[in-house]
Amino acid sequence: MTHRIIIKNGMFADLSPTAKQSSFHGFMVVENDRIVHIGSELPEQYAAADAEIIDGKGLFFIPGLVNTHGHAAMSLLRGYGDDLALQTWLQEKMWPMEGKFTANDVYWGTALSVIEMLKGGTTTFVDMYDYMDEVAKVCEQSGIRASLMRGAIGLCPEDVQREKLNEAIQFAKDWNGKADGRIRTIMAPHAPYTCPPAFIESFVQAAHDLDLPLHTHMSETKAEVEQNVKDYGMRPVAHLEKLGFFSRPSFVAHAVHLTDEEIETLAKYQVAVSHNPGSNLKLASGVARVPEMLRAGVVVSLGTDGAASNNNLDMFEEIRLTALIHKGVSGDPTAVPAAEALRMGTIYGAQTIRLDDIGALEVGMKADFVAVDIDQPHFLPHTDLVSHMVYSASAKDVKHVWVDGKQVVKNGECLTMDEERILREAQQCFDGLLAR
Ligand SMILES: [Zn+2]
Repeated sequence: MTHRIIIKNGMFADLSPTAKQSSFHGFMVVENDRIVHIGSELPEQYAAADAEIIDGKGLFFIPGLVNTHGHAAMSLLRGYGDDLALQTWLQEKMWPMEGKFTANDVYWGTALSVIEMLKGGTTTFVDMYDYMDEVAKVCEQSGIRASLMRGAIGLCPEDVQREKLNEAIQFAKDWNGKADGRIRTIMAPHAPYTCPPAFIESFVQAAHDLDLPLHTHMSETKAEVEQNVKDYGMRPVAHLEKLGFFSRPSFVAHAVHLTDEEIETLAKYQVAVSHNPGSNLKLASGVARVPEMLRAGVVVSLGTDGAASNNNLDMFEEIRLTALIHKGVSGDPTAVPAAEALRMGTIYGAQTIRLDDIGALEVGMKADFVAVDIDQPHFLPHTDLVSHMVYSASAKDVKHVWVDGKQVVKNGECLTMDEERILREAQQCFDGLLAR
């Protein structure tokens, strides 16, 4: 049976670059998991149709936000080791604690992140971690959409490397297309500075064999780029190009330190970039050359990174930071306008992870969308609502959320997960990690 939802009298975002107006008053019809109508009128055929009717008054509907880089279970380490440089933070704080993580910790840490993301309007997220079966289970249960990968650090003996690669392959095979198609899998060596070249090549080969995209961390810090030159005689972009990484559909996280030539190479191979402004600022990694990348035709989307380096998973914050930082750094107030920043958080995110049916409110697209409560002081007057989403909104303004045509958040409450239990279990996991 067809489950039909009709949204009446709402305001809707139109983020297509050719749109005359970035928002309009109207109607949207969803049948099962897809948008079948959106426009200023409701066609006759739906007038008396059997449907769940949603009153859109006071709501602004935007596409679900797409978070293209993160490590969900790291929310268990939120606030544990702030104000440190990346390498110190990783080596002295994160890695020792993460070394103690069990499957149970990853399950509850991920649940904590997923409930935060859903309530904040994120309908799709990318996750690179360990114990990925647990992450996939949370996605299956919560109703969120995700691109998942077992991220592998190769600073270990060859037999352990092989074990990690096999785990990554097994996970990718087991879960691709699962949870009604909401879960996709990706191959991911952690980073050029944590993976020997041959290890990276084995992931590239696996991605070819399984026909999957590739993801990795790249050029996050200046020190890491200099080390790459010392170790391999070239900068990370040339290094990954040489290892065949860009021969697959691929995307990299951070890409903070790039030369003009490197930007050209990324554009040439259609390598997408997950820009993580909050994490980059907090770890003082630098500011990525986003306006230059966009101008060169590189797809740039947004990620929160793990909650330990952010410290929340509020995508509205990343969107706002992106719109602000690049103005400040370039001295050009037209750098990254509001609509472009919101596209980076939605449709460019979809393009980054190679999903062509999410990220926009259009007929034929998956029904992943968010209703923001715009009857609040910080959204009045209702001038440019897209601008409001970028410069005034936060995750707390999200009222309802749908993924794949199913409502997962209603009046700010998550319908699919037990929030009270998740909060309790997450605190217990952290206490347990400290005690071990
Ligand atoms: Zn990361």
